[in-house]
Amino acid sequence: ELPPVNGDFYDLSSLLSPEDKALQLRVREFMEQEIQPVVNEYWMKAEFPFELLPKLAALNICGSTYEGYGGPNKSFLMEGIVTMEIARVDCSMATFFGVQSGLAMGSIYLLGSEAQKKEWLPDMQQLKKIGAFGLTEPEVGSGAAGGLTTTVKRVGDTWVLNGEKKWIGNATFADVVVIWARDVDDNQVKGFLLRKGTPGFTVEKMHGKMALRIVQNGLITLKDCVVEEKDRLEHANSFKDTAKVLRMTRAGVAWLAVGCARGAYENALAYTLKRKQFGKPIASFQLIQNHLVEMLSNLTAMQTMVYRLSELQDQGLLADEHASIAKVFCSLRTRDVVRGAREVMGGNGILLEYNVARFVADAEAIYSYEGTKEINTLIVGRAITGFSSFI
Ligand code: FAD
Repeated sequence: ELPPVNGDFYDLSSLLSPEDKALQLRVREFMEQEIQPVVNEYWMKAEFPFELLPKLAALNICGSTYEGYGGPNKSFLMEGIVTMEIARVDCSMATFFGVQSGLAMGSIYLLGSEAQKKEWLPDMQQLKKIGAFGLTEPEVGSGAAGGLTTTVKRVGDTWVLNGEKKWIGNATFADVVVIWARDVDDNQVKGFLLRKGTPGFTVEKMHGKMALRIVQNGLITLKDCVVEEKDRLEHANSFKDTAKVLRMTRAGVAWLAVGCARGAYENALAYTLKRKQFGKPIASFQLIQNHLVEMLSNLTAMQTMVYRLSELQDQGLLADEHASIAKVFCSLRTRDVVRGAREVMGGNGILLEYNVARFVADAEAIYSYEGTKEINTLIVGRAITGFSSFI
């Protein structure tokens, strides 16, 4: 009989309440039974499994940390565990979840008016309305804090947006896109809830991605889009406010990277236990065991790190640098884990059907989005030295 395959080596899930543990298992069951059978086909086609959204909504996991507005009011730790469970099977679905529940709902929850929260959050919580988050531009990525070229101008009681946004997840089908733009009058970054169908707002699906192919990234063009004052995020008055959202979601991306590593490790371990060469399971060879233990060491270090990260978040003690160091460490180590997983699988490591190749590709996007390694490193560097070397 083969030993059990489990990437939670320190049994962190035993620290959860029975209710939270049951939720973890429900999410796992959904991902393994509903998403796993179709995921590689969708990934190849670069399409999104819309028909599975009602079942995802029924898990009641969106906006789970927000008080009120229909969410279950769970801890950040539990939201992290849920993110990890989704990513363990598919990082694109975890990214969709992160954009909807974190970036889009989070902008409204943290920075919106009471009326905006009431209008959007309950429907978004149930995935009846889908959101997107438009910060990055074709020529402005890492330098978004000081460099946004998308402009907004107050005209009477309304605001007029002009510019372009690139890479925007969910944008092709979102009901609302949070657009970040520079006010030409006071030079501050402000946030707007841009509704689907607004004249002058067009989205082109991005093609040719070699990672996270299920995520529908869009290139947005804004041409004299008129937004009413009621759709301006009331508490978004400078990039410092945008950063509040990113601090929260970066912690989620660290968990997402852990899920990516865990999925790759568990699939690779199971494979090495079954695959025979020289008349023996390849898991019995010392050099293969070395790969497996290296993967598990990285995975265990990451899991304990994000566990504590979420505890800080739950205690209201999360600082930008806490989230950034975890995002850097986990996305970097995940690259090592998925490479190790691919390696122990030989040729099958590059075939989608063996469920490691997709993680190898997806790790590359996780490494770059929500702040690259360099930018998150510089955020930590600034915190520990007092010198800002980038803004
Ligand atoms: P650049 O900023 O051009 O960076 C290129 C390289 O230069 C990187 O290695 C970077 O680290 C380095 N660099 C830049 N500045 C410095 C510096 N000062 N010091 C040292 N090195 C530096 N954005 C959104 O707004 N919404 C989304 O939903 C969204 N989804 C995404 C989904 C995917 C799959 C991807 C890949 C990206 C997504 N993004 C999204 C954009 C993402 O956040 C950016 O790709 C990221 O911020 C990096 O920007 P860039 O790609 O323009 O790279």
